[in-house]
Amino acid sequence: MKFLPIFLDPSAGPILLVGAGDLVRARLRLLLAAGAHVRWHATDGDFAVPGLDAAAASRIERGEADPRVVDLSGIVAVFCASAGEIGERVAARARSAGVPVNVMDDPAHSSFIVPAIVDRGDVVAAIGTGGASPVVARRVRERIEAALPARIGDLAAMIGRWRRLIHDHIPDLPLRRRFWERVIDGPIGEAVLAGRSDEAEGSLKAIVDPSIYAGASVPGDIEGRITLVGAGPGDPDLLTIKALRALQDADIVFYDELVTPEILDRARRDAVRVPVGRRVGKPGIGQDAINRLLIDAAKSGQRAVRLKGGDPFIFGRGGEEVEALREAGVACSVIPGITAGLGAAAEFEVPLTYRREALRITFLTAHKAHDASNVDWSALTDRKMTVVVYMGITAAAAIRSGLLEAGRSPETPVGVFARATRPDAKSVIGILDHLPALVRDVEGGPAILVIGDVVSHSAPWRNASQNSSLQTFQMAAE
Ligand code: SAH
Repeated sequence: MKFLPIFLDPSAGPILLVGAGDLVRARLRLLLAAGAHVRWHATDGDFAVPGLDAAAASRIERGEADPRVVDLSGIVAVFCASAGEIGERVAARARSAGVPVNVMDDPAHSSFIVPAIVDRGDVVAAIGTGGASPVVARRVRERIEAALPARIGDLAAMIGRWRRLIHDHIPDLPLRRRFWERVIDGPIGEAVLAGRSDEAEGSLKAIVDPSIYAGASVPGDIEGRITLVGAGPGDPDLLTIKALRALQDADIVFYDELVTPEILDRARRDAVRVPVGRRVGKPGIGQDAINRLLIDAAKSGQRAVRLKGGDPFIFGRGGEEVEALREAGVACSVIPGITAGLGAAAEFEVPLTYRREALRITFLTAHKAHDASNVDWSALTDRKMTVVVYMGITAAAAIRSGLLEAGRSPETPVGVFARATRPDAKSVIGILDHLPALVRDVEGGPAILVIGDVVSHSAPWRNASQNSSLQTFQMAAE
């Protein structure tokens, strides 16, 4: 950390701004938006700032004197447009007077730098890169913008109003923290974030005893909850914003074998991580045992995330878990994820539907050959239907014969997409007749099969046909 981030109280005293031009006006607007009183030395004498409201404009004080010699007493910070002769002199004087100074784009003459800012009212995030790269700061800012609920500032403001009162009611810090967590994470917080602040205030007022609300006199009864979270197909950037939030809140994360380490990394640093999936060569702990673990975690007051590859409700046994939790009286909710079929389709540009050519999609699982023999293949022969097969690698031969016997053309385009959205993703394309060989070529799973004419629109198919026409062209030239 090269610079220490701190937040300045704009009412602490006037801020000195020296310089002219658009960047200086942008800085001025920022200072005024924060409520600061600004003494501005416009070095070109042009004090016009279009579009300011009267209240903001009234907080600008024109500095007519030479900025190199102005009195710095009472000034809480100095901003300068650029080093130059004036800037350097102003910066040197500020430094010797012990007043923090920033010279734009010039860390050498600055004693502080201005961060990129995410502004949500009372909640403000400041992002710095030690002055190294404003573009990196902007990218980080975009991510924070995306992750922060729009009304998070309202939530902080409401808590600020109640802080003193709750402090008096619950002097014990851990219990008080638990109280605020329950407010923020529960229906009250949800109401504020949804724009229903009056309802939230009403619910806060209705809490008869805050320490009981925090779980004080019934410690065994502190309410936990389970969130089933879809982790998507592998790329952590494909987590939804809600999924990310649930991961950040979780005390404990139960995860499947399909969940990548990069995704687990997005959980809160001190969250406990428990693998519950099958691992190479070892069976999983079984669905009943998983259900038990989830129920126990919730009953002991923990906030648990059940993290599943793709989407929890697509071949993910999420349905069984929700039922078990409901039966046990445990609060739970579900956050959807991007299922492997959609991840692969996006990555390899397979339009799963296509005007006039593909009007229906079937998601199917055929884990073992005997699963495949239970599938009614005759329902899948419509040429305008795209068939997406999960867990279809080992049953590839049975899938091929099932579809061919039912009458689907052996020439039907097929894509085998392995490890989609991960760095080692691979695709193999071909025709239904060759499915078992194609499946071998992807060299390991997890892999998804897409069967249907749409595969001929995919990126790998286009590339292959370009290459083969190039070969034909080369052969003709020879
Ligand atoms: N709930 C998951 C599916 C779990 S079943 C989802 O919605 O995606 C496991 C199967 O999903 C694997 O056998 C494979 O067919 C598919 N799968 C999961 N991740 C995948 C990936 N990154 N690339 C290709 N297929 C994947």
